[in-house]
Amino acid sequence: MDFNDSSEEAAFRAEARAWLEKTLGPPASRQTARSEGDGIPASKAYQAKKAAAGYVGLTWRKEVGGRELPPIFQVIFSQEEQKFQAPVAPFGIGLGMCIPTVIAFHSADKIKRYVGPALRGEEIWCQLFSEPSAGSDVAGLKTKAVRDGDDWIVNGQKVWTSGAHYCDYGILLVRTNPEKEKHKGLTMFVVNMKAPGVEVRPIHQMSGGSNFNEVYFTDVRISDSERLGEIGNGWNVALVTLMNERLAVGGSAGPEYAEILELARNTPSPSGKGSLLQDQAFREKLAGWYVSAEGYTLGKYRTMTALSKGQTPGPENSIGKLLNANRMQDLANSAIEAEDHFGIISDPDIAALQGAFHNAYMWAPGLRIAGGTDEILRNIIAERVLGLPQDVRVDKGVAYKDLPTGR
Ligand SMILES: Cc1cc2nc3c(=O)[nH]c(=O)nc-3n(C[C@H](O)[C@H](O)[C@H](O)COP(=O)(O)OP(=O)(O)OC[C@H]3O[C@@H](n4cnc5c(N)ncnc54)[C@H](O)[C@@H]3O)c2cc1C
Repeated sequence: MDFNDSSEEAAFRAEARAWLEKTLGPPASRQTARSEGDGIPASKAYQAKKAAAGYVGLTWRKEVGGRELPPIFQVIFSQEEQKFQAPVAPFGIGLGMCIPTVIAFHSADKIKRYVGPALRGEEIWCQLFSEPSAGSDVAGLKTKAVRDGDDWIVNGQKVWTSGAHYCDYGILLVRTNPEKEKHKGLTMFVVNMKAPGVEVRPIHQMSGGSNFNEVYFTDVRISDSERLGEIGNGWNVALVTLMNERLAVGGSAGPEYAEILELARNTPSPSGKGSLLQDQAFREKLAGWYVSAEGYTLGKYRTMTALSKGQTPGPENSIGKLLNANRMQDLANSAIEAEDHFGIISDPDIAALQGAFHNAYMWAPGLRIAGGTDEILRNIIAERVLGLPQDVRVDKGVAYKDLPTGR
């Protein structure tokens, strides 16, 4: 492992930092969860400036508007951007997952049509994979598309679609052949989110926000020219989308170990003697979080070293997400408990640190589900990192229509 930037990487970091400071002002002192839908115009304006300065599509081919830099440069830029609380959340899924899939599978004229506006933040994209009965097992999805001349007619329902309420386009995974095994009868399309028959219904969350949605499709017409990849090859296209999640290694969105230490120093112990730092039970928790945070950081360095050497990070990346999401929930829960009635404060403008713990507490359960639940990640670690035997597959070789859920 090499923890240091190479001279080229260090120069890029300094240049990126100077641009961020000029564009956004000094680094923000405290990272707090931000409601994604709140500041779309501000996010679009920032993205346009970022595109004009050449900090978008860093790893992409030059012919699609990129700079063809190694992936480590994207990691460095994201790390610096995070320190400034840059308003990039609405573009994460589109530029991180959807557009790379469009570039890999769409026709040259469609790539030209979609990539530029997405890079400049003029159009925002969402990912329409999960359904009420297909999340971890997304290949079991029901939404169907039936061929009608040069078009396809789509009917069905998606759920948990982040950002669908402000998105212009989405990548949509649907069943085109129920006669085949569940993984083999799927096809992917680009869908216009404003097309007739697309209905977006925001889901109200316990945090007070509405960042994700149910999306209903009723006789939605999609041209075959919007197909991504071959008919029936949607699963392999989806795997490319999911692989692109791996570059999202920028780090935790929640409070860090140093901040729980600060809270412990400034919060009275329940015994009435000194601060929480003197409380034996809390000290044990602090030690556990420290070990887990250090493990996460070192794991991240391993990923960065792999990226720096031009390698692809492996399934061990799942360990970081599993550790991080669980630590965030446990740490935020303990912090809120320790703050007693002040733990209820969620507004970072009233109390930045309290607000951060509260927001982390609200966000952590979602983080333990999004991008692979704890159990799915444990399966990946067991099978692909530790080499343990695979889960039993009762649906292997069975046509989708013959599965109990396939009718
Ligand atoms: C914040 C957030 C944002 C999201 N954004 C999007 C988005 O933009 N687009 C999109 O398509 N989806 C999105 N999702 C959906 C997400 O991908 C799914 O929620 C996730 O894959 C889990 O699926 P599920 O909710 O259907 O749970 P299920 O798959 O039904 O799981 C229910 C429980 O069963 C367990 N389980 C399932 N299978 C197994 C197994 N084989 N072994 C052991 N345990 C198992 C799970 O771990 C879980 O505890 C988002 C989710 C969240 C929380």
